[in-house]
Amino acid sequence: MQAEIIAIGDEMTSGQRLDTNSQWLSDQLESLGIRVLYHTTVGDDLEANVRVFQIATGRADVVVATGGLGPTDDDLTRQAMSAAFQRPLTLDEVSLVGIEQRFHSRGRTMPEKNKIQAMFPEGANVIPNPHGTAPGIDLELVSGEIGTCRIFALPGVPIEMKEMWLLTVQPAIRIMPTLPRRRIKNHVIKCFGVGESHMEAMLPDMIRRGKEPRVGITVHHATISLRITATGEDDDACDRLIGECRRQIDTALGELVFGTGDEELHDVVIRQLQETGKTVGVLETSTAGMLCRWLGEADPNNQAFRGATVLPANSFESTEEPGIITELIVRGRQLRDRLNVDFALVLGPIPPADAHPETPYHYGIVGADTEQITHSTVAGHPEIHAPRMVKQALDLLRKQLRTSVKPAD
Ligand code: ATP
Repeated sequence: MQAEIIAIGDEMTSGQRLDTNSQWLSDQLESLGIRVLYHTTVGDDLEANVRVFQIATGRADVVVATGGLGPTDDDLTRQAMSAAFQRPLTLDEVSLVGIEQRFHSRGRTMPEKNKIQAMFPEGANVIPNPHGTAPGIDLELVSGEIGTCRIFALPGVPIEMKEMWLLTVQPAIRIMPTLPRRRIKNHVIKCFGVGESHMEAMLPDMIRRGKEPRVGITVHHATISLRITATGEDDDACDRLIGECRRQIDTALGELVFGTGDEELHDVVIRQLQETGKTVGVLETSTAGMLCRWLGEADPNNQAFRGATVLPANSFESTEEPGIITELIVRGRQLRDRLNVDFALVLGPIPPADAHPETPYHYGIVGADTEQITHSTVAGHPEIHAPRMVKQALDLLRKQLRTSVKPAD
């Protein structure tokens, strides 16, 4: 069973707004075992919308559209569906009363323009919208029409779209006789410490096309995500496949694995600190408070993260060894004393963007039993220098704390 998602609206095609609805819907469809083969984005143009609906229904079993169900002249979804499948628009009295009541409950009279939102292509069912005026459209095409296909058209407003999907569309798809009797589940493993190609080499044969379960690799600012996608007849079968694959990855990567799902390094470090009752302070130089902000967000009550000093890049007497190492240790000790914390994470200056790729920068950890300053080089795009350095420092602390707390699942 294959699906296509259509995102409708000039705000997407003109670049003003990111189409997050399609991303969310793809995830939902995939977890139902339905493969999404196409995302189509189309502007507010009737002829283009008609074509897009005709093409989508010719190549997919399920089409989910979002946007264009409002009352204004540029909202054309219902008109496009009507024209594409020769289904005249007819008034649904129940929906009209619902829309009128919504306006009355706010002490207003329904503008005449909103009446269009109670018009549906002939033969369509209404998808209720509990928190908005625009009901959705559920239209089934039978063989002999362009293709046998079920179309669900939902509003563009993400919160309304999601609610309507969960309340009506998802249950309707679940009972479709053609729905594959299989489940698809995902599990994301987060890693830090080596580059993407190095990591691929450490996972021989896992990231191969056609391999089951599928393992995909993506990188964002030096954090690598491995996404395991398993297909099975039920949740348990998927969990077993994911569990086995996860064990192989853990064995191959060891302490490069730091977490799962949406977890980031700072979340893990804060959790480790809280579990061990330890505290940390931060001294940052060229990272504009990035480490401070990340730790602060992960620990809003400052149970483990006790404060930061953020310095301008020219605050050090020397940026070369051994001067920089000594200065980072001295400043780290002073910070520990001042904040009365177990660890100080210290980040020295980052060389300018045009520096030679082998120019080093220094960072480290200063604690009662460990004073470790290390260096890396400014290879790669300047945009990743700051987040990578922040993560490298966090990773030092994670490994330090790892010995005293049980690793994350
Ligand atoms: P309304 O009744 O609000 O007019 P609608 O179905 O006509 O609903 P649109 O007018 O197309 O929806 O979009 C409403 C808002 O929802 C947009 O301004 C945009 O902020 C958001 N939106 C629309 N489509 C998407 C999308 N694909 N991804 C994320 N946000 C979207």
